Amino acid sequence: MSEEITLKVNRKYQHRYQNGYPLLLKEAIPSLERVKTEGTMIKLIDDQGCFIGKGYYGKQNKGFGWMISHNETEKINEGFFEKVIRSALLKRNQLYQNKNTNAFRVFNGEGDGIGGFTIDYFNGFYLINWYNKGIYKFKDTIIRALEKVTTYEAIYQKKRFATAGRYVEDDDYVKGIRGQFPIIVKENGMNFAIYLNDGAMVGVFLDQREVRKTIKDHYATGKMVLNLFSYTGAFSVAAALGGAVKTTSVDLANRSRAKTIEQFSMNGIDYETHDIIVEDVFQYFKYAIRKKLKFDLVILDPPSFARSKKYTFSAAKDYKNLLKETIAITEDNGIIIASTNCSTFQMKKFKSFIDAAFKETGEKYKLLEEFSLPEDFKTINTFKEGNYLKVVFIQKLKK
Ligand code: SAH
Repeated sequence: MSEEITLKVNRKYQHRYQNGYPLLLKEAIPSLERVKTEGTMIKLIDDQGCFIGKGYYGKQNKGFGWMISHNETEKINEGFFEKVIRSALLKRNQLYQNKNTNAFRVFNGEGDGIGGFTIDYFNGFYLINWYNKGIYKFKDTIIRALEKVTTYEAIYQKKRFATAGRYVEDDDYVKGIRGQFPIIVKENGMNFAIYLNDGAMVGVFLDQREVRKTIKDHYATGKMVLNLFSYTGAFSVAAALGGAVKTTSVDLANRSRAKTIEQFSMNGIDYETHDIIVEDVFQYFKYAIRKKLKFDLVILDPPSFARSKKYTFSAAKDYKNLLKETIAITEDNGIIIASTNCSTFQMKKFKSFIDAAFKETGEKYKLLEEFSLPEDFKTINTFKEGNYLKVVFIQKLKK
């Protein structure tokens, strides 16, 4: 076990940590300055010296580690990790039993009690994402704990923090029988090709499962569909299987074409009857306007931040304008599915962008339904920014 150091919380913040706020912040705990070693155990006390909780030091974005227990006698060892991971796996029991779906999240960081790492399940394969160097020091203990509570084909991992300027190791294999990639996973009647050995993005974003199902089951039949920022085209697959007349997928990345063809093929869809366009979305808007193209269903799921040759996009600043351009190529009574994974604003603000975009284009709209993270991406009330996903189905009304 690593060394432990006792730190005092600023009075103003005591309540927050007592109530379960998980992220260690410099403004709340000034003496965090003194901690140098990633993975150091931290005992948090109030200004009376009373115990608040235990955590570990690990730099991650604006935080400096995570609280992991409020029990003073708790030993942070393999048994602890085993208990916490087992409890998380039990909460996913229904998904493990589900015959139609075999890809989902089994451990969601602070939402499941320990911030800094996540575990995803892909049809027998486990993938661990490590988000800071501190938790990575517990890697062997955590992997042993995972092995105690489940069986697997293989375990893979990704370091999502920089080491020597690089983010992902060449070999992400940890143990078990090496996979032949892609492995194929099922999700509500769809198949997806998954690569655990090829960078941080494995082929499909599991947090959009309910949105894909909703598109397939309720929004696609007979529709001309445009999927912007389409990545591997997972939303296009959902729309095509749901009976769309045609899908058009647009993504800037060269690899997206082959990846989208692959996902279509996994589902017996003839990709030649669909359009897959490798282009900057902002260029595509101009093209669509020039060609007078309009769509019945537009799916809009940009990254929180992106820079292309010509444009910089930041969801917090530019989502409204992105929507305005989208509204212009959406049919009357057509639907826009606006999605963002940006954690710096919440649903209320997202809806204010939507409202402003429609007002400024002089169009009317109706909100049809909304989604946040699905149940397997467990979040806690004391950490709102953990629930980053916001998806809103909007109908553009005929004037
Ligand atoms: N909607 C996808 C995930 C999108 S990930 C899904 O559900 O699977 C974000 C994608 O946006 C990446 O594939 C990236 O290549 C693409 N991208 C970023 N900036 C872009 C731009 N200006 N134009 C088109 N695509 C862009």
